[in-house]
Amino acid sequence: MHLFEAIIDANHRAVAGDNSAGLHPADFADALPVIALTCIDPRLNPLFPNALALPAEDFIWLRNAGNIITGTLSSTTRSLALACAVKGGREIAIIGHTDCQVAKTTTTMLLEKLRALGVERSQLPENVSDFFGTFGSERQNVIKACDFARTSPLIGPKIPVHGLMIDVATGKLDWVVNGYEALPANTLAQMPATQFASIGDLGSCKDFEMGEMKFPEMKIGDAASPESSAPPAVVPPPPKIATLPPLKIPGKMAVPPPIKPRPTFAAGYQDQPPRR
Ligand SMILES: [Zn+2]
Repeated sequence: MHLFEAIIDANHRAVAGDNSAGLHPADFADALPVIALTCIDPRLNPLFPNALALPAEDFIWLRNAGNIITGTLSSTTRSLALACAVKGGREIAIIGHTDCQVAKTTTTMLLEKLRALGVERSQLPENVSDFFGTFGSERQNVIKACDFARTSPLIGPKIPVHGLMIDVATGKLDWVVNGYEALPANTLAQMPATQFASIGDLGSCKDFEMGEMKFPEMKIGDAASPESSAPPAVVPPPPKIATLPPLKIPGKMAVPPPIKPRPTFAAGYQDQPPRR
Protein backbone atom coordinates (compact mmCIF):
# COMPACT_ATOMS: atom_id res chain seq x y z
CA MET A 1 0.00 0.00 0.00
CA HIS A 2 1.32 3.43 -0.93
CA LEU A 3 1.49 6.30 1.51
CA PHE A 4 -1.61 8.20 0.50
CA GLU A 5 -3.62 5.02 0.17
CA ALA A 6 -2.69 4.27 3.77
CA ILE A 7 -3.47 7.86 4.78
CA ILE A 8 -6.94 7.73 3.30
CA ASP A 9 -7.58 4.32 4.74
CA ALA A 10 -6.59 5.51 8.22
CA ASN A 11 -8.58 8.71 7.78
CA HIS A 12 -11.73 6.87 6.80
CA ARG A 13 -11.42 4.47 9.68
CA ALA A 14 -10.84 7.34 12.11
CA VAL A 15 -13.83 9.26 10.80
CA ALA A 16 -15.89 6.11 11.23
CA GLY A 17 -14.89 6.03 14.88
CA ASP A 18 -12.08 3.48 14.84
CA ASN A 19 -9.80 4.60 17.65
CA SER A 20 -7.07 2.23 16.53
CA ALA A 21 -6.79 3.82 13.08
CA GLY A 22 -3.41 5.36 12.44
CA LEU A 23 -0.22 5.46 10.46
CA HIS A 24 3.36 4.56 11.25
CA PRO A 25 5.40 7.19 9.43
CA ALA A 26 8.50 5.02 9.66
CA ASP A 27 6.83 2.53 7.35
CA PHE A 28 6.67 5.22 4.67
CA ALA A 29 10.00 6.92 5.20
CA ASP A 30 10.77 6.80 1.48
CA ALA A 31 7.63 8.80 0.68
CA LEU A 32 8.13 11.49 3.31
CA PRO A 33 7.97 14.39 3.73
CA VAL A 34 4.88 15.21 1.74
CA ILE A 35 3.99 18.58 0.29
CA ALA A 36 0.41 19.74 0.57
CA LEU A 37 -1.16 22.68 -1.24
CA THR A 38 -4.35 23.80 0.44
CA CYS A 39 -6.62 26.82 0.58
CA ILE A 40 -6.05 29.63 3.08
CA ASP A 41 -9.43 28.99 4.73
CA PRO A 42 -8.84 29.17 8.50
CA ARG A 43 -11.17 26.23 9.03
CA LEU A 44 -8.32 24.10 7.71
CA ASN A 45 -5.90 25.26 10.40
CA PRO A 46 -6.83 22.61 12.96
CA LEU A 47 -7.31 19.88 10.37
CA PHE A 48 -3.74 19.58 9.12
CA PRO A 49 -1.66 17.56 9.40
CA ASN A 50 -3.96 15.66 11.77
CA ALA A 51 -6.32 14.51 9.07
CA LEU A 52 -3.40 12.94 7.24
CA ALA A 53 -2.09 11.24 10.38
CA LEU A 54 1.33 12.70 9.67
CA PRO A 55 3.74 14.27 12.13
CA ALA A 56 4.28 17.99 11.58
CA GLU A 57 7.90 17.51 10.52
CA ASP A 58 6.83 15.40 7.56
CA PHE A 59 4.26 17.90 6.37
CA ILE A 60 5.33 20.78 4.10
CA TRP A 61 2.35 23.11 3.84
CA LEU A 62 1.81 25.51 0.96
CA ARG A 63 -1.32 27.61 0.93
CA ASN A 64 -3.02 30.05 -1.37
CA ALA A 65 -6.57 31.28 -1.79
CA GLY A 66 -8.45 28.40 -3.37
CA ASN A 67 -5.44 26.06 -3.69
CA ILE A 68 -5.16 27.34 -7.23
CA ILE A 69 -2.40 26.62 -9.73
CA THR A 70 -2.58 28.84 -12.80
CA GLY A 71 0.11 27.22 -14.93
CA THR A 72 2.97 24.79 -15.23
CA LEU A 73 5.44 27.59 -14.50
CA SER A 74 3.34 29.67 -12.12
CA SER A 75 4.59 31.00 -8.81
CA THR A 76 2.84 28.22 -6.89
CA THR A 77 4.25 25.58 -9.21
CA ARG A 78 7.71 27.01 -8.64
CA SER A 79 7.17 26.78 -4.88
CA LEU A 80 6.13 23.16 -5.26
CA ALA A 81 9.27 22.52 -7.30
CA LEU A 82 11.44 24.15 -4.67
CA ALA A 83 9.68 22.23 -1.93
CA CYS A 84 10.73 19.04 -3.71
CA ALA A 85 14.23 20.13 -4.67
CA VAL A 86 15.22 22.09 -1.58
CA LYS A 87 13.11 20.60 1.20
CA GLY A 88 13.11 17.07 -0.11
CA GLY A 89 9.37 16.65 -0.56
CA ARG A 90 8.64 13.23 -2.06
CA GLU A 91 4.95 13.43 -2.89
CA ILE A 92 2.61 16.32 -3.65
CA ALA A 93 -1.02 16.49 -2.58
CA ILE A 94 -3.30 19.25 -3.78
CA ILE A 95 -6.11 19.24 -1.28
CA GLY A 96 -9.28 21.14 -1.99
CA HIS A 97 -12.00 21.53 0.59
CA THR A 98 -15.75 21.59 0.73
CA ASP A 99 -17.59 24.90 1.05
CA CYS A 100 -14.71 26.89 -0.46
CA GLN A 101 -15.59 30.55 -0.63
CA VAL A 102 -13.51 31.03 -3.76
CA ALA A 103 -15.84 28.63 -5.56
CA LYS A 104 -18.82 30.62 -4.34
CA THR A 105 -17.48 33.94 -5.52
CA THR A 106 -18.50 34.84 -9.05
CA THR A 107 -16.43 37.18 -11.17
CA THR A 108 -19.03 39.90 -10.68
CA MET A 109 -18.92 39.45 -6.92
CA LEU A 110 -15.13 39.49 -6.97
CA LEU A 111 -15.06 42.71 -8.97
CA GLU A 112 -17.48 44.29 -6.52
CA LYS A 113 -15.42 43.23 -3.54
CA LEU A 114 -12.20 44.46 -5.11
CA ARG A 115 -13.84 47.73 -5.98
CA ALA A 116 -14.92 48.15 -2.37
CA LEU A 117 -11.24 47.84 -1.52
CA GLY A 118 -10.30 50.57 -3.96
CA VAL A 119 -9.25 48.32 -6.83
CA GLU A 120 -10.85 49.65 -9.98
CA ARG A 121 -11.80 47.49 -12.95
CA SER A 122 -9.28 49.32 -15.12
CA GLN A 123 -6.46 48.08 -12.92
CA LEU A 124 -7.33 44.47 -13.62
CA PRO A 125 -6.71 42.32 -16.68
CA GLU A 126 -9.51 41.71 -19.09
CA ASN A 127 -10.13 38.13 -18.07
CA VAL A 128 -10.28 38.37 -14.29
CA SER A 129 -11.37 34.77 -13.85
CA ASP A 130 -8.40 33.39 -15.80
CA PHE A 131 -6.07 35.81 -14.09
CA PHE A 132 -6.97 34.76 -10.56
CA GLY A 133 -7.73 31.19 -11.56
CA THR A 134 -11.12 31.30 -9.88
CA PHE A 135 -13.41 28.33 -10.23
CA GLY A 136 -16.93 27.10 -9.66
CA SER A 137 -16.18 23.49 -8.74
CA GLU A 138 -13.75 22.54 -6.02
CA ARG A 139 -13.18 19.14 -7.61
CA GLN A 140 -12.52 20.51 -11.08
CA ASN A 141 -10.13 23.03 -9.56
CA VAL A 142 -8.16 20.23 -7.92
CA ILE A 143 -8.06 18.24 -11.16
CA LYS A 144 -6.82 21.28 -13.06
CA ALA A 145 -4.15 22.03 -10.45
CA CYS A 146 -2.97 18.41 -10.57
CA ASP A 147 -2.72 18.58 -14.35
CA PHE A 148 -0.57 21.69 -14.20
CA ALA A 149 1.68 20.27 -11.49
CA ARG A 150 1.95 16.87 -13.16
CA THR A 151 2.90 18.32 -16.54
CA SER A 152 5.19 21.01 -15.16
CA PRO A 153 8.75 20.71 -16.41
CA LEU A 154 9.83 21.93 -12.99
CA ILE A 155 8.48 18.90 -11.13
CA GLY A 156 10.20 15.67 -11.89
CA PRO A 157 8.32 12.57 -12.99
CA LYS A 158 9.37 10.76 -9.83
CA ILE A 159 7.04 12.89 -7.72
CA PRO A 160 3.48 11.58 -7.46
CA VAL A 161 0.93 14.42 -7.64
CA HIS A 162 -2.31 13.61 -5.86
CA GLY A 163 -5.60 15.43 -5.74
CA LEU A 164 -7.73 15.15 -2.62
CA MET A 165 -10.80 16.77 -1.15
CA ILE A 166 -11.33 17.32 2.55
CA ASP A 167 -14.67 17.87 4.20
CA VAL A 168 -14.26 20.86 6.51
CA ALA A 169 -17.08 19.63 8.73
CA THR A 170 -15.77 16.14 9.35
CA GLY A 171 -12.13 16.09 8.25
CA LYS A 172 -12.87 13.20 5.89
CA LEU A 173 -10.48 12.91 2.96
CA ASP A 174 -11.41 11.59 -0.45
CA TRP A 175 -9.52 10.92 -3.62
CA VAL A 176 -9.91 13.21 -6.58
CA VAL A 177 -6.75 12.22 -8.46
CA ASN A 178 -4.66 9.20 -7.54
CA GLY A 179 -1.15 10.32 -8.36
CA TYR A 180 0.21 6.79 -8.28
CA GLU A 181 -2.00 5.91 -11.23
CA ALA A 182 -0.94 9.02 -13.15
CA LEU A 183 2.72 8.10 -13.23
CA PRO A 184 2.98 5.60 -16.11
CA ALA A 185 5.63 6.28 -18.72
CA ASN A 186 3.10 6.78 -21.48
CA THR A 187 1.97 9.94 -19.70
CA LEU A 188 5.52 11.17 -19.49
CA ALA A 189 6.22 10.45 -23.13
CA GLN A 190 3.83 13.27 -23.99
CA MET A 191 5.69 15.82 -21.95
CA PRO A 192 8.01 17.27 -24.60
CA ALA A 193 5.07 18.39 -26.69
CA THR A 194 3.02 19.77 -23.86
CA GLN A 195 5.28 20.97 -21.15
CA PHE A 196 5.35 24.60 -22.19
CA ALA A 197 1.82 24.69 -23.50
CA SER A 198 0.64 26.72 -20.56
CA ILE A 199 2.79 29.64 -21.60
CA GLY A 200 -0.15 30.33 -23.84
CA ASP A 201 -2.25 30.75 -20.74
CA LEU A 202 -0.52 34.03 -20.22
CA GLY A 203 -1.99 35.26 -23.46
CA SER A 204 -5.10 36.57 -21.82
CA CYS A 205 -2.93 38.66 -19.49
CA LYS A 206 -0.24 39.70 -21.90
CA ASP A 207 -1.39 43.28 -22.06
CA PHE A 208 -1.40 43.48 -18.33
CA GLU A 209 1.74 44.64 -16.59
CA MET A 210 2.67 41.75 -14.37
CA GLY A 211 6.39 41.49 -13.85
CA GLU A 212 5.89 38.31 -11.86
CA MET A 213 4.88 36.52 -15.02
CA LYS A 214 7.81 37.43 -17.20
CA PHE A 215 10.12 34.72 -15.90
CA PRO A 216 13.07 37.12 -15.95
CA GLU A 217 15.27 35.07 -13.72
CA MET A 218 14.69 31.68 -15.22
CA LYS A 219 17.41 29.93 -17.12
CA ILE A 220 14.78 28.41 -19.32
CA GLY A 221 13.61 31.90 -20.23
CA ASP A 222 14.59 31.49 -23.86
CA ALA A 223 12.28 28.57 -24.21
CA ALA A 224 9.58 30.17 -22.12
CA SER A 225 9.71 33.55 -23.80
CA PRO A 226 6.37 34.30 -25.43
CA GLU A 227 8.14 35.86 -28.44
CA SER A 228 10.13 32.73 -29.11
CA SER A 229 8.45 30.43 -31.58
CA ALA A 230 11.25 27.90 -31.43
CA PRO A 231 10.63 24.58 -29.72
CA PRO A 232 11.55 24.42 -26.05
CA ALA A 233 15.30 24.25 -25.59
CA VAL A 234 15.02 22.32 -22.38
CA VAL A 235 14.88 18.60 -22.84
CA PRO A 236 12.81 16.89 -20.18
CA PRO A 237 14.16 13.93 -18.29
CA PRO A 238 13.90 10.75 -20.34
CA PRO A 239 10.94 8.53 -19.51
CA LYS A 240 13.21 5.76 -18.32
CA ILE A 241 13.54 7.47 -14.94
CA ALA A 242 9.81 7.54 -14.58
CA THR A 243 9.66 5.24 -11.66
CA LEU A 244 8.39 5.75 -8.19
CA PRO A 245 10.95 5.85 -5.46
CA PRO A 246 10.92 2.55 -3.62
CA LEU A 247 7.81 2.42 -1.54
CA LYS A 248 7.71 0.29 1.53
CA ILE A 249 4.90 -2.08 1.91
CA PRO A 250 4.00 -1.86 5.53
CA GLY A 251 4.35 -5.16 7.24
CA LYS A 252 3.25 -5.66 10.74
CA MET A 253 2.36 -2.46 12.48
CA ALA A 254 5.40 -2.20 14.66
CA VAL A 255 6.59 -0.70 17.84
CA PRO A 256 5.85 3.03 17.85
CA PRO A 257 2.29 4.05 18.53
CA PRO A 258 0.52 5.13 15.39
CA ILE A 259 -0.08 8.75 14.57
CA LYS A 260 -3.82 8.91 14.55
CA PRO A 261 -5.86 11.06 12.25
CA ARG A 262 -7.95 13.43 14.25
CA PRO A 263 -10.19 14.67 11.53
CA THR A 264 -13.39 15.03 13.48
CA PHE A 265 -13.91 18.52 14.75
CA ALA A 266 -16.99 19.97 16.29
CA ALA A 267 -18.77 22.83 14.55
CA GLY A 268 -17.15 25.35 16.86
CA TYR A 269 -13.77 24.16 15.78
CA GLN A 270 -11.72 27.25 16.68
CA ASP A 271 -10.33 26.58 20.07
CA GLN A 272 -11.53 23.13 20.78
CA PRO A 273 -9.32 20.12 20.99
CA PRO A 274 -10.08 17.33 18.61
CA ARG A 275 -12.94 15.15 19.67
CA ARG A 276 -11.88 11.69 20.65
ZN1 LIG B 1 -11.15 27.67 0.20
